[in-house]
Amino acid sequence: MFRSALLDALALVLPTDCAACGAPDRALCDACGAQLVPTVTQLAIRRAHAPPLAVWSALPYRETVASALSKLKESGRTDVARPLALVLSAAVTEARQSALERLPVGAAVELALAPSSRAAYRQRGYNPVALLARPSRVGLPCLRPLRVARATRDQAGLGVTDRRANLDGSLLVRTRFAGGSLQGRNLVLVDDVVTTGATLFECRRALEHAGARVLGAATLAFAERRSGASSVEVITESSTQ
Ligand SMILES: [Zn+2]
Repeated sequence: MFRSALLDALALVLPTDCAACGAPDRALCDACGAQLVPTVTQLAIRRAHAPPLAVWSALPYRETVASALSKLKESGRTDVARPLALVLSAAVTEARQSALERLPVGAAVELALAPSSRAAYRQRGYNPVALLARPSRVGLPCLRPLRVARATRDQAGLGVTDRRANLDGSLLVRTRFAGGSLQGRNLVLVDDVVTTGATLFECRRALEHAGARVLGAATLAFAERRSGASSVEVITESSTQ
């Protein structure tokens, strides 16, 4: 947290460059900012013997959003969190709305953050997804009920089956979760990128084991299908600008 505040402060006083294209400018230049207009896509993630999970995703994971997110995660460019969070919040709004429509009037839907590993946190000094999902940015508090229970391999380069095996049982609900019991609560998951959905499925498994109901997920971006490597299916596209 301290490191993130420090980097934000430094970005205000030091000249910086566009996190996506490198042009000397602020966090994102106007041209790259214009690429980050959310067009929320509804996806379904399927897994054998499990109900599909509905995911609302703001943009395809390519070009501008991919470079900006990578700078946020790997190069400490926390100044780019604000424009990216605006994009994520469009997906959160749609996911939450859809969840509310499936519940009795008056029911509450809360957000739950996909966890990052302690090792990743130690390395970066901040949690990039938590920066994107600040209440002031996505409109309501995002619960953090999950923790990584065991180390997993880097998912990059693993196929669908290996990703599932790698993550299965890897998340647990925190024993001293500040939000109290999850029993009977309605949740929408929040994460940065959905690729095969293995992480989101593991989040849902852990949360439902603790008695919560997971009604969908919202992500900033979705990785597009590569030949046979994805179980992510695009259902509809809806523009929200
Ligand atoms: Zn740019």
